[in-house]
Amino acid sequence: SASASAEDAENSLRELAALAETAGSTVLDGVLQRRDTPDPGTWLGSGKAKELKDVVSASGADTVIADGELSPSQRRALEDIVKVKVIDRTALILDIFAQHAKSKEGKAQVELAQLEYLLPRLRGWGESMSRQAGGRVAGGEGIGSRGPGETKIELDRRRIRTRMAKLRREIKEMRPARETRRQSRRRGAVPSVVIAGYTNAGKSSLLNRLTGAGVLVEDALFATLDPTVRRSEVPDGRTMTLSDTVGFVRSLPTQLVEAFRSTLEEVGEADVLLHVVDASHPDPEGQISAVRDVLAEVGTHGGDGPVEVVVLNKCDQADPEVVSRLLRRERGSVVVSARTGEGLDALRERIGEVLPHPEVLVDVVVP
Ligand code: GDP
Repeated sequence: SASASAEDAENSLRELAALAETAGSTVLDGVLQRRDTPDPGTWLGSGKAKELKDVVSASGADTVIADGELSPSQRRALEDIVKVKVIDRTALILDIFAQHAKSKEGKAQVELAQLEYLLPRLRGWGESMSRQAGGRVAGGEGIGSRGPGETKIELDRRRIRTRMAKLRREIKEMRPARETRRQSRRRGAVPSVVIAGYTNAGKSSLLNRLTGAGVLVEDALFATLDPTVRRSEVPDGRTMTLSDTVGFVRSLPTQLVEAFRSTLEEVGEADVLLHVVDASHPDPEGQISAVRDVLAEVGTHGGDGPVEVVVLNKCDQADPEVVSRLLRRERGSVVVSARTGEGLDALRERIGEVLPHPEVLVDVVVP
C-alpha cells in the first residue's frame, strides 16, 4: 500500500502471501515498492514492473498478485510487462470466499460480490484473457477464475445486472428463514455468544475448546460467511449458544462488506461478543482496529450492541510484554491459549459474569 509505513506494507504482504496459500497457490517471491500514490499507468511504475518481470521469469511464477486494487487498464499494462496473469487483492479475497461459502445464501452473496467487482472491469478482463490464450497462464483453474466462470465473464453488462438483481432477490427471500432460526433461538431465551476476530486468530480452536465440538481448524486464513452454532455452558450451569463468525482480513473488499451484513447483523444481536486476538501476531493492535472498523460499518460496535470481551489468544507463544501492553489497553480482556487450555476457566467465568440471565417466558393460554 502506498502511504503506509514499511512495516505495515510488509505485514500486509505477509498476509497477502498467507491468503494466496489459502487459495491454493504456492508463493514464490515478493517485490515491495514504496510509492506515495500508485503509478496511473502500470500501478508499480515501469522500472519496478520490469524488476518484477525478472522476478517472475526467474521463479517461474504463473500469476502475480498485487497488494491493492488495480484499475482494468493498470492490470492490462502490468500484464503486458510481466507476461503472466495479474490479479489484485480484492479478486484473491473474493476467490477465497467463493471456495469457502457453503450455504445457499453464502454462495449467492459471494457471487453477488464477485459480479459487483467484475462489472466495471468487464471489458478489460475479457480482452486480456483472450489476448493471453496460449500464453503462460495455465488454464482457467487459477485464482480469480472460480465463481462466475469464464463464460459468465463474457456476458454483457446487462445480463450481469440481471443476474445481480436475481441474486439480490434470492438473498432477500432467504432472509426470513434466517430470521426464523434466530428468533427461535431467542424464544428459547438462551443467551448468545458470538466469536469474532481476525482470520487465523484462533476462533475455531476456541470454539472447539469451549464446546468440545469438532470444528475444522486450519492453519490457513479461513474465511466463511456461514457461522457454526453450538451450545455450551457457563460455570453456574446456564446454557448459551456459541457461534463462530467471519474471519476478518485487512482491507476487506467493500463488495464483501455488503455480503457480510446479514452475518454481522447476528453479531449485533448477540448478548456477548468474544473478540479473539492473536497476541503473538506482529501487529495485534492493527488487527483489533481492523475488526472494529468492519463491525462499526455494520453498526454492531458500541451502542446497545453486545458486551465485548477481548480474548488475547496464543499466550503460549506471545511475547509477555506484548500481552501486558494489550491487557493495559483492552480493559477486562482475558489471556488464554486455545492450544494449551490456559486461561479457559477464567474465560468461562468472565462470560458467566457478562451473560444476561434468561428471562422466564410464560405462555398465557386463554381458554
Ligand atoms: P480462525 O481462523 O480464527 O478460526 O483460527 P483457527 O482456530 O483455525 O486457528 C488458526 C491457527 O492458529 C491454527 O494453526 C491453530 O492451531 C493455531 N492456534 C489457535 N490457537 C492457538 C493458541 O492458543 N496457541 C498457538 N500456538 N496456536 C494456536
